[in-house]
Amino acid sequence: MEEGLRIRFWGTRGSIAAPYSDRMEFGGNTSCVSVDWAEGLAVFDGGTGLVELGRRIKEASGRLSSKETRIHIFVSHLHLDHIVGLCMFPCLFCRDMAIELYGPCEEGLSFRERFWAAMSHPFWPVTMEQTAARITWHDTKDGDIWILPGDVKVKAMSSRHPDGGVMYRLDGKTGSVVYGLDCEPGEEQGDFWKAYEEFARGCDLLIFDAPYGEEEYEAHRGFGHGFWQQGLLMARKCGAGRLYISHHEWERTDGQLAAAEREARRKACDREGFVVFAREGACVCLQSGDERGCE
Ligand SMILES: [Zn+2]
Ligand SMILES: [Zn+2]
Repeated sequence: MEEGLRIRFWGTRGSIAAPYSDRMEFGGNTSCVSVDWAEGLAVFDGGTGLVELGRRIKEASGRLSSKETRIHIFVSHLHLDHIVGLCMFPCLFCRDMAIELYGPCEEGLSFRERFWAAMSHPFWPVTMEQTAARITWHDTKDGDIWILPGDVKVKAMSSRHPDGGVMYRLDGKTGSVVYGLDCEPGEEQGDFWKAYEEFARGCDLLIFDAPYGEEEYEAHRGFGHGFWQQGLLMARKCGAGRLYISHHEWERTDGQLAAAEREARRKACDREGFVVFAREGACVCLQSGDERGCE
Protein backbone atom coordinates (compact mmCIF):
# COMPACT_ATOMS: atom_id res chain seq x y z
CA MET A 1 0.00 0.00 0.00
CA GLU A 2 1.44 3.37 -0.99
CA GLU A 3 -0.67 5.80 0.97
CA GLY A 4 -2.96 5.56 3.94
CA LEU A 5 -3.38 3.48 7.06
CA ARG A 6 -4.45 -0.13 6.92
CA ILE A 7 -5.98 -1.56 10.07
CA ARG A 8 -6.35 -5.32 10.36
CA PHE A 9 -7.94 -7.44 13.08
CA TRP A 10 -5.94 -10.56 13.97
CA GLY A 11 -7.88 -11.39 17.13
CA THR A 12 -11.25 -10.18 18.39
CA ARG A 13 -12.01 -12.43 21.39
CA GLY A 14 -11.73 -11.33 24.97
CA SER A 15 -10.46 -13.24 28.01
CA ILE A 16 -9.69 -16.52 26.25
CA ALA A 17 -9.44 -17.96 22.75
CA ALA A 18 -12.53 -19.61 21.25
CA PRO A 19 -11.48 -21.94 18.42
CA TYR A 20 -14.89 -23.48 17.81
CA SER A 21 -16.68 -24.06 14.54
CA ASP A 22 -19.74 -22.01 15.51
CA ARG A 23 -17.51 -18.99 16.31
CA MET A 24 -15.27 -18.80 13.25
CA GLU A 25 -16.96 -15.91 11.44
CA PHE A 26 -15.98 -13.52 14.22
CA GLY A 27 -12.88 -15.53 14.97
CA GLY A 28 -11.29 -17.46 17.81
CA ASN A 29 -8.08 -15.54 18.57
CA THR A 30 -7.62 -13.03 21.37
CA SER A 31 -6.90 -9.32 20.94
CA CYS A 32 -4.47 -8.15 18.31
CA VAL A 33 -4.83 -5.33 15.76
CA SER A 34 -2.17 -4.17 13.30
CA VAL A 35 -1.90 -0.78 11.63
CA ASP A 36 0.48 -0.40 8.72
CA TRP A 37 1.38 2.45 6.42
CA ALA A 38 4.09 3.15 3.86
CA GLU A 39 6.86 3.71 6.44
CA GLY A 40 5.87 1.59 9.39
CA LEU A 41 3.96 -1.06 11.29
CA ALA A 42 2.31 -0.78 14.69
CA VAL A 43 0.56 -3.58 16.53
CA PHE A 44 -1.86 -3.21 19.40
CA ASP A 45 -1.77 -6.07 21.91
CA GLY A 46 -0.18 -9.48 21.72
CA GLY A 47 -3.12 -11.85 22.09
CA THR A 48 -3.10 -15.19 20.28
CA GLY A 49 -3.85 -13.33 17.01
CA LEU A 50 -0.28 -11.96 17.05
CA VAL A 51 1.21 -15.36 16.23
CA GLU A 52 -0.22 -15.56 12.71
CA LEU A 53 0.65 -11.90 12.09
CA GLY A 54 4.22 -12.74 13.13
CA ARG A 55 4.36 -15.66 10.72
CA ARG A 56 3.26 -13.37 7.87
CA ILE A 57 5.81 -10.68 8.82
CA LYS A 58 8.57 -13.28 8.94
CA GLU A 59 7.54 -14.68 5.58
CA ALA A 60 7.46 -11.20 4.00
CA SER A 61 10.81 -10.18 5.50
CA GLY A 62 12.37 -13.29 4.00
CA ARG A 63 11.44 -11.96 0.57
CA LEU A 64 13.11 -8.61 1.25
CA SER A 65 16.86 -8.04 0.90
CA SER A 66 18.86 -7.50 4.07
CA LYS A 67 16.74 -4.64 5.33
CA GLU A 68 15.87 -4.86 9.01
CA THR A 69 12.17 -5.08 9.84
CA ARG A 70 11.03 -2.81 12.67
CA ILE A 71 7.79 -3.48 14.53
CA HIS A 72 6.22 -1.30 17.21
CA ILE A 73 4.05 -3.35 19.58
CA PHE A 74 1.84 -1.46 22.03
CA VAL A 75 0.49 -3.60 24.87
CA SER A 76 -2.62 -2.35 26.69
CA HIS A 77 -2.01 -4.37 29.87
CA LEU A 78 -0.60 -7.67 31.01
CA HIS A 79 -3.71 -9.82 31.36
CA LEU A 80 -2.90 -13.10 29.69
CA ASP A 81 -5.31 -12.75 26.77
CA HIS A 82 -3.30 -9.68 25.67
CA ILE A 83 0.24 -11.06 25.96
CA VAL A 84 0.12 -14.81 25.42
CA GLY A 85 0.78 -14.39 21.68
CA LEU A 86 3.96 -12.47 22.45
CA CYS A 87 5.45 -15.56 24.09
CA MET A 88 5.10 -17.36 20.74
CA PHE A 89 5.72 -14.37 18.45
CA PRO A 90 7.91 -15.77 15.66
CA CYS A 91 9.68 -12.43 15.08
CA LEU A 92 11.22 -12.52 18.57
CA PHE A 93 13.49 -15.28 17.32
CA CYS A 94 14.71 -13.54 14.14
CA ARG A 95 18.04 -11.73 14.12
CA ASP A 96 16.93 -9.24 11.45
CA MET A 97 13.98 -7.93 13.46
CA ALA A 98 13.93 -4.82 15.62
CA ILE A 99 11.01 -4.88 18.02
CA GLU A 100 9.95 -1.88 20.06
CA LEU A 101 7.76 -3.04 22.95
CA TYR A 102 5.57 -0.53 24.75
CA GLY A 103 3.46 -1.33 27.79
CA PRO A 104 2.33 -0.12 31.20
CA CYS A 105 4.67 -0.13 34.19
CA GLU A 106 3.70 0.08 37.86
CA GLU A 107 5.29 1.52 40.99
CA GLY A 108 8.79 0.06 41.15
CA LEU A 109 8.34 -2.30 38.19
CA SER A 110 9.07 -1.47 34.57
CA PHE A 111 7.04 -2.96 31.72
CA ARG A 112 10.08 -5.06 30.85
CA GLU A 113 10.27 -6.53 34.36
CA ARG A 114 6.55 -7.21 34.42
CA PHE A 115 6.59 -8.96 31.06
CA TRP A 116 9.72 -10.97 31.86
CA ALA A 117 7.95 -12.35 34.92
CA ALA A 118 5.25 -13.79 32.67
CA MET A 119 7.67 -15.16 30.08
CA SER A 120 9.80 -17.19 32.47
CA HIS A 121 9.97 -20.57 34.21
CA PRO A 122 7.75 -22.28 35.24
CA PHE A 123 5.12 -20.43 33.21
CA TRP A 124 6.93 -20.71 29.87
CA PRO A 125 9.93 -22.77 28.75
CA VAL A 126 11.52 -20.02 26.64
CA THR A 127 12.76 -16.86 28.33
CA MET A 128 13.47 -13.42 26.90
CA GLU A 129 17.22 -14.14 27.15
CA GLN A 130 16.78 -16.70 24.38
CA THR A 131 15.26 -14.29 21.87
CA ALA A 132 17.30 -13.10 18.87
CA ALA A 133 15.55 -9.89 17.83
CA ARG A 134 16.79 -6.48 18.91
CA ILE A 135 14.23 -5.48 21.54
CA THR A 136 13.76 -1.99 22.95
CA TRP A 137 11.48 -1.56 25.94
CA HIS A 138 9.29 1.44 26.64
CA ASP A 139 7.14 2.14 29.70
CA THR A 140 3.82 3.71 28.79
CA LYS A 141 2.01 6.15 31.03
CA ASP A 142 -1.00 8.38 30.72
CA GLY A 143 -0.31 11.19 28.23
CA ASP A 144 2.87 9.72 26.72
CA ILE A 145 3.39 10.43 23.01
CA TRP A 146 5.69 8.70 20.53
CA ILE A 147 6.46 9.68 16.96
CA LEU A 148 6.89 6.74 14.59
CA PRO A 149 8.33 6.81 11.03
CA GLY A 150 6.17 8.69 8.52
CA ASP A 151 5.20 11.23 11.19
CA VAL A 152 2.70 8.89 12.77
CA LYS A 153 1.89 9.85 16.35
CA VAL A 154 0.82 7.41 19.06
CA LYS A 155 -0.61 8.68 22.32
CA ALA A 156 -1.47 6.79 25.52
CA MET A 157 -4.29 7.26 27.99
CA SER A 158 -4.86 5.28 31.20
CA SER A 159 -7.85 2.99 30.97
CA ARG A 160 -10.27 1.87 33.70
CA HIS A 161 -9.53 -1.78 34.19
CA PRO A 162 -8.53 -4.13 37.03
CA ASP A 163 -4.70 -4.01 37.39
CA GLY A 164 -4.65 -0.87 35.22
CA GLY A 165 -3.83 -0.47 31.57
CA VAL A 166 -3.54 2.01 28.74
CA MET A 167 -5.48 2.75 25.58
CA TYR A 168 -3.78 4.13 22.50
CA ARG A 169 -4.58 6.59 19.77
CA LEU A 170 -2.66 6.55 16.48
CA ASP A 171 -2.76 9.59 14.20
CA GLY A 172 -1.33 9.38 10.70
CA LYS A 173 -1.46 11.67 7.69
CA THR A 174 -4.60 10.03 6.34
CA GLY A 175 -6.52 9.10 9.45
CA SER A 176 -6.65 8.14 13.09
CA VAL A 177 -7.58 5.08 15.10
CA VAL A 178 -8.30 4.67 18.81
CA TYR A 179 -7.56 1.28 20.36
CA GLY A 180 -9.77 1.23 23.46
CA LEU A 181 -9.23 -2.26 24.92
CA ASP A 182 -9.71 -3.20 27.82
CA CYS A 183 -11.76 -0.49 29.42
CA GLU A 184 -14.90 0.14 31.46
CA PRO A 185 -15.86 3.75 30.77
CA GLY A 186 -18.41 3.82 33.62
CA GLU A 187 -20.99 6.56 33.98
CA GLU A 188 -21.59 8.85 31.08
CA GLN A 189 -21.28 11.99 33.19
CA GLY A 190 -18.11 10.91 34.97
CA ASP A 191 -14.63 12.43 34.60
CA PHE A 192 -13.20 9.33 33.01
CA TRP A 193 -15.91 9.23 30.36
CA LYS A 194 -15.22 12.87 29.49
CA ALA A 195 -11.47 12.26 29.27
CA TYR A 196 -12.05 9.24 27.01
CA GLU A 197 -14.34 11.33 24.81
CA GLU A 198 -11.62 13.98 24.44
CA PHE A 199 -8.98 11.36 23.77
CA ALA A 200 -11.05 9.87 20.95
CA ARG A 201 -12.33 13.20 19.61
CA GLY A 202 -12.75 13.13 15.82
CA CYS A 203 -11.02 9.78 15.26
CA ASP A 204 -11.81 7.93 12.04
CA LEU A 205 -12.04 4.53 13.70
CA LEU A 206 -12.90 3.76 17.32
CA ILE A 207 -12.19 0.21 18.49
CA PHE A 208 -14.37 -0.10 21.56
CA ASP A 209 -14.27 -2.75 24.27
CA ALA A 210 -17.73 -4.28 24.67
CA PRO A 211 -18.17 -7.96 25.47
CA TYR A 212 -21.65 -7.26 26.83
CA GLY A 213 -25.01 -5.82 25.96
CA GLU A 214 -26.54 -3.28 28.32
CA GLU A 215 -28.83 -5.86 29.94
CA GLU A 216 -25.79 -7.93 30.99
CA TYR A 217 -23.72 -5.07 32.30
CA GLU A 218 -25.04 -4.90 35.87
CA ALA A 219 -23.88 -8.46 36.57
CA HIS A 220 -20.42 -7.54 35.24
CA ARG A 221 -19.97 -4.08 36.72
CA GLY A 222 -16.37 -3.62 37.86
CA PHE A 223 -15.02 -6.33 35.53
CA GLY A 224 -13.31 -3.64 33.46
CA HIS A 225 -15.40 -3.82 30.30
CA GLY A 226 -18.16 -1.92 28.57
CA PHE A 227 -21.29 -2.73 26.57
CA TRP A 228 -21.99 -1.98 22.95
CA GLN A 229 -24.68 0.66 23.58
CA GLN A 230 -21.95 2.63 25.37
CA GLY A 231 -19.79 2.24 22.29
CA LEU A 232 -22.50 3.82 20.15
CA LEU A 233 -22.82 6.71 22.55
CA MET A 234 -19.07 7.23 22.83
CA ALA A 235 -18.67 7.12 19.04
CA ARG A 236 -21.40 9.74 18.63
CA LYS A 237 -20.10 11.98 21.39
CA CYS A 238 -16.50 11.96 20.18
CA GLY A 239 -17.51 12.17 16.52
CA ALA A 240 -15.85 8.93 15.42
CA GLY A 241 -16.11 8.06 11.72
CA ARG A 242 -16.67 4.38 12.39
CA LEU A 243 -17.13 2.14 15.39
CA TYR A 244 -15.72 -1.39 15.68
CA ILE A 245 -16.86 -3.39 18.71
CA SER A 246 -14.33 -5.95 19.92
CA HIS A 247 -13.23 -8.16 22.87
CA HIS A 248 -16.15 -10.52 22.21
CA GLU A 249 -17.10 -12.98 24.96
CA TRP A 250 -15.61 -16.41 24.18
CA GLU A 251 -19.02 -18.09 24.51
CA ARG A 252 -20.74 -15.90 21.89
CA THR A 253 -21.57 -17.78 18.71
CA ASP A 254 -21.50 -16.19 15.26
CA GLY A 255 -25.31 -16.12 15.29
CA GLN A 256 -25.43 -14.27 18.61
CA LEU A 257 -22.81 -11.71 17.59
CA ALA A 258 -24.48 -11.11 14.22
CA ALA A 259 -27.81 -10.58 15.99
CA ALA A 260 -26.24 -8.05 18.37
CA GLU A 261 -24.64 -6.30 15.39
CA ARG A 262 -28.03 -6.05 13.65
CA GLU A 263 -29.55 -4.61 16.79
CA ALA A 264 -26.72 -2.09 17.14
CA ARG A 265 -27.22 -1.01 13.52
CA ARG A 266 -30.95 -0.57 14.05
CA LYS A 267 -30.31 1.48 17.16
CA ALA A 268 -27.73 3.60 15.35
CA CYS A 269 -30.08 4.08 12.35
CA ASP A 270 -26.94 2.98 10.67
CA ARG A 271 -25.28 4.87 7.97
CA GLU A 272 -23.96 1.88 6.04
CA GLY A 273 -21.22 0.20 8.04
CA PHE A 274 -20.91 2.80 10.80
CA VAL A 275 -21.04 0.17 13.51
CA VAL A 276 -19.39 -3.19 13.00
CA PHE A 277 -18.74 -6.09 15.35
CA ALA A 278 -15.11 -6.84 14.53
CA ARG A 279 -14.40 -10.06 12.67
CA GLU A 280 -10.98 -11.67 12.68
CA GLY A 281 -9.29 -10.91 9.33
CA ALA A 282 -11.33 -7.74 8.75
CA CYS A 283 -9.44 -4.84 7.30
CA VAL A 284 -10.17 -1.11 7.14
CA CYS A 285 -8.19 1.31 5.00
CA LEU A 286 -8.09 4.99 5.87
CA GLN A 287 -6.92 6.86 2.82
CA SER A 288 -6.56 10.56 2.20
CA GLY A 289 -9.99 12.10 2.57
CA ASP A 290 -12.04 8.94 2.36
CA GLU A 291 -12.03 5.49 3.84
CA ARG A 292 -13.02 2.15 2.47
CA GLY A 293 -12.84 -1.48 3.37
CA CYS A 294 -10.02 -3.47 1.84
CA GLU A 295 -9.33 -7.16 1.75
ZN1 LIG B 1 -8.89 -8.70 27.76
ZN1 LIG C 1 -7.95 -7.26 30.86
